[in-house]
Amino acid sequence: MTTTPKRAVLRLRRLLLTLLALAGTATACATGDDRPRVVVTTNILGDITREIVGDEADVTVLMKPNADPHSFGLSAVQAAELERADLVVFNGLGLEENVLRHVEAAREAGTATLEAGRAVDPLVFRAPADGGPQADAGQPDPHFWTDPDRVRTAAGLIADRVVEHVEGVDEEAIRANADRYDGRLADLTAWMERSFDRIPEQRRALVTNHHVFGYLAERFGFRTVGAVVPSGTTLASPSSSDLRSLTEAMREAGVRTVFTDSSQPTRLAEVLRTELGGRVRVVALHSESLTEKGKGAGTYLQMMRANTTAMTDGLTAG
Ligand SMILES: [Zn+2]
Repeated sequence: MTTTPKRAVLRLRRLLLTLLALAGTATACATGDDRPRVVVTTNILGDITREIVGDEADVTVLMKPNADPHSFGLSAVQAAELERADLVVFNGLGLEENVLRHVEAAREAGTATLEAGRAVDPLVFRAPADGGPQADAGQPDPHFWTDPDRVRTAAGLIADRVVEHVEGVDEEAIRANADRYDGRLADLTAWMERSFDRIPEQRRALVTNHHVFGYLAERFGFRTVGAVVPSGTTLASPSSSDLRSLTEAMREAGVRTVFTDSSQPTRLAEVLRTELGGRVRVVALHSESLTEKGKGAGTYLQMMRANTTAMTDGLTAG
């Protein structure tokens, strides 16, 4: 019977927080405040969670379109929303560097949380074979969404947690949404395999902005030659010797395509192009943020299809 008083305290705390919020924003529209609410940190997990939850609860996504998951922060209102949530879904594994302390505070205050990255058998960053720079070797790699099989696992876990923690949802509806989305993820994986089959074996080599495609490389058989920023986060920056070892690795591997993120500056990739005599192609991908609707990567499925097409074209051309 130890959980009963805790639940009562939680409910009282949520009521108090709601009252405080209402008092603080007396002019704001209060409708829907008693609706069950799931708060999600990144917009990729937000889209996946909305597919699962459907109309059964409100889903609030904290990260804006085209933002950088490593660096986005929260407003005071958003931080308070975390604590009022029935469930918080976050990527974790160090991805949302400026948000994780707020998630931890909500968890300690009794809010149910799901760290999706931790729950899908994460990979660790490996030291490069050539002994070159990789600041995060041995640390878990947070970019699990580049492997759609792991996203299937995460989507199933989100459905489980919603049913368990979000009061008033219709379990059958959640399960039906999850089944339908699982089928679409399976179709995506099969289509990605067929697309990548067009790339000759010796050309399946990736140079990216930072180490963002480790899971995709493992799942679909690509070699990771290097990254412009030799780190698992966009918040690091390369030294000139980092850039030199990357250009050497690219020459050795015969790689002529560098993939950048559409939301990151391409300045460093352009430096590489100059270093390698202009024979380098720079291709923009949507690697870690969705766009606004209708702008190329409004959903996870659209993002993965757009990236697969751009990668296949980039690695087979010329
Ligand atoms: Zn990243």
